[in-house]
Amino acid sequence: MYIAPGDYNPNSIRGVSLIAHELTHAQQFQDMGINDFVAWYVFGYLFNYYWDRDSYQAYRDIALEQEAWDVEDYIRRNLEKKFGTKDPCPKQTKPCG
Ligand SMILES: [Zn+2]
Repeated sequence: MYIAPGDYNPNSIRGVSLIAHELTHAQQFQDMGINDFVAWYVFGYLFNYYWDRDSYQAYRDIALEQEAWDVEDYIRRNLEKKFGTKDPCPKQTKPCG
């Protein structure tokens, strides 16, 4: 799991969606085991890069990433449906609810 510095924000819709993305990878990792996860991730990247010749697109098109993007988008869309695009608890340091 990787969250870039400054991107961890569980009080924002974007932050929660990003955490969902990373938790999807944790679930994939748990389901597949480290060897298969790494093999499919790396193979997917190299296969895509062979065709795309674009490192960012090759990364985006990895099947394991596609699943995580789908979960991230699903969570973001549903939170936005409930709260709009405005973050429900933008400046609090402790959880709201
Ligand atoms: Zn990812």
